Order: sequence, then C-alpha cells, then structure tokens
Amino acid sequence: MKKIITFLFSLVIIISVQAQLPRVIILATGGTIAGAGASSDRAGYTAGKIPIDDLIGAIPTVKKVASITGEQIASVGSQDMTTDIWKKLAVRANEIFAKNEADAIVVTHGTDTQEETGYFLDLVVASERPVVLTGSMRPATAISADGPKNLYDAITVAINPNSKGRGVLISFNEGIFDAREVMKLSTTKVNAFGSPNTGPVGQVYDGKVEYYMSSMREVNVKTPFSVQADTKFPRVDIVYMYADAPPDMLDMLIAKKVDGIVIAGVGNGNFNKAYMDAVKRAVSAGIVVCRASRTPSGRVVLHDEINDDELGTIVSDDLTPQKARVLLMLGLMKTKDKKQLQQYFFKY
Ligand code: ASP
Repeated sequence: MKKIITFLFSLVIIISVQAQLPRVIILATGGTIAGAGASSDRAGYTAGKIPIDDLIGAIPTVKKVASITGEQIASVGSQDMTTDIWKKLAVRANEIFAKNEADAIVVTHGTDTQEETGYFLDLVVASERPVVLTGSMRPATAISADGPKNLYDAITVAINPNSKGRGVLISFNEGIFDAREVMKLSTTKVNAFGSPNTGPVGQVYDGKVEYYMSSMREVNVKTPFSVQADTKFPRVDIVYMYADAPPDMLDMLIAKKVDGIVIAGVGNGNFNKAYMDAVKRAVSAGIVVCRASRTPSGRVVLHDEINDDELGTIVSDDLTPQKARVLLMLGLMKTKDKKQLQQYFFKY
C-alpha cells in the first residue's frame, strides 16, 4: 500500500512538473534532418524520410526542459518546398498561438530553402511568441549527424524568454540568426548558415542562450501581411543577370503575364542594355520589377547607376533575390502601388 501511495505521489509530481514546463509544438516539414541514407559513412541519402516523433525520440533529455508535441506538416526535401506548405505552416502557427496551444514553435525544415520559409513566416505569423527554424546538413543516419543537436538547441532557443518579440529565428550549428538576414552559405558544411550583412543575433551553447543584438525591422504582431488557407499568391519569378545575358527569360515572363519579377542583378542591382529594354517592356505591361543583387551582401540603392523613377522599378534594399520575391508576393496581395511596395522593402 505504502509503495502504491509513493508511486502515485511521484506520478502527481512528475505530471505537475511536466504541466509547468514550456509547451513547444514542433511543425515538421522534412529535410535532411529527417533524411535517411543506406550507409552511415557515405553522402547519399533521401531527405524527409524520418517522422518527427522519431526525431524527438533521439533527444530524450529535452523532455526535462520542455513539454514537446510533434506535428508532421509535410515530408519534403526543401528544394520541393511550395507555397501550399508555407500556407499550412503559417495558418497552423497562427492558430497555435491564437488558441494558446503552445508557448513556442519549432519548425524542422530542409536547409536549401529554409531562409525563404523563415522570412515568409516572419512576415505572416502575428505573435510575439518565438518561432524557431532548424534543420541539419547530415542525415539522421550519418556519422556525427548534426540534426539531434540542432533540434535540441532550437528548442532551447524557443523556450528562452529573451527569444520573444524577435521575429522568426533560425538556430543552426550553435548560431542564432534573424530569419530575415540569414542565408545558406555553404552547400555541404555543418556551419552552413550565416548573415552576411549583420552576423548572428546570438549563440546557443551548452543549453544556454546569449543574444548580442536585435533587429530594427518591424515584424510580429505589427505585420500588415497575412495568409489564409484559401490565399492565392501572385506569381513572382526571379531572373539572374550575368555577362552577356540575353533578355529571353524576361520576355518569356512578360508573355506569361506574371505579376512581379525580381532581377538578381550584378553589383548594385545592375543589368545590361538588353535587360534594360526588356524591363521597360515588363513595366509597360504592368509587371512590378524589383532590382535585387546576386552579390551576397550590401544594399541595392535607388537611383545609383539606374534611375528607378525613370525606369519604373523598385529596389530590394538588402534582401536577397529569393527573399525579395517573398516580400513582393505578399506585398502584391495588398497593393500594386510601387511607392507603397518600395516602402515595404525599406521597412520589412
Ligand atoms: N536538400 C535538403 C533540403 O533542403 C538539404 C538539407 O536539408 O540540408 O531539404
């Protein structure tokens, strides 16, 4: 009898401690963190194979610091990320916070397009509560897989009180990055992410989180952007500029009547005369053209070598072409006014 009472007593204590732990929901989308290969010592693998409950099972001690639930939103390599999955993530994340189902969200995601999803969520999840993305460079079956550590760290970041109100974060290889600033900088190394313009905002090490700086950009509850399950996104494409580039891609997009084009220009968002003429044709056709740069750091400024007022273009400020596309898609859902769209680029 005494044993039963002691057992029940400890059960009650465990349950009440568990109830006080911060609640984290992990929204899983696949990626290498859920990747499995035939051999532990060779590179080949398939992304998005392992379910989220198994990934959580690989870090059992995390249960001491947080109460964790996993939800499988998708199971793709992030090269196959779609706007439909973005919508599912955004709608579910907003619902989780609106219904107070969790204190923080972690998203597991492939690294290839993690920066785009991160920035998208940054713009459409209207909450001060933390949303932290992570992934891995090595599949779960590899020697020294980096996924379990990255997932543990991302949860540590998500439950840290200082992570609130910082917008969406990416936690990777012990660095904490602002989703707006971060970029995948290495194709295969485990320290794959960096923020060329700003550096990381903090570090997570040995279960502790340190922040060094905050973004001045407006995000979170103040965001003017939102998506619903039935949202239809405008079509915005990216065209790369390179020496002697012909205008064919631009003309093809004009013929397709796309809504927006981001040009990954050279240097300060420059392009050649053939592109210049094609951009004039695109602008006359009512397509919003945004000048970004293929150069990985720095801003694209108005009216430098190209007079944007004359040409009718806008600039991406310091957003990479792939992130400028995300903002232009969301911006075009609100307005076609180029002045307003330009303001979005300076503000968000
Ligand atoms: N191709 C993979 C993906 O983005 C790479 C990774 O996750 O590291 O899903």
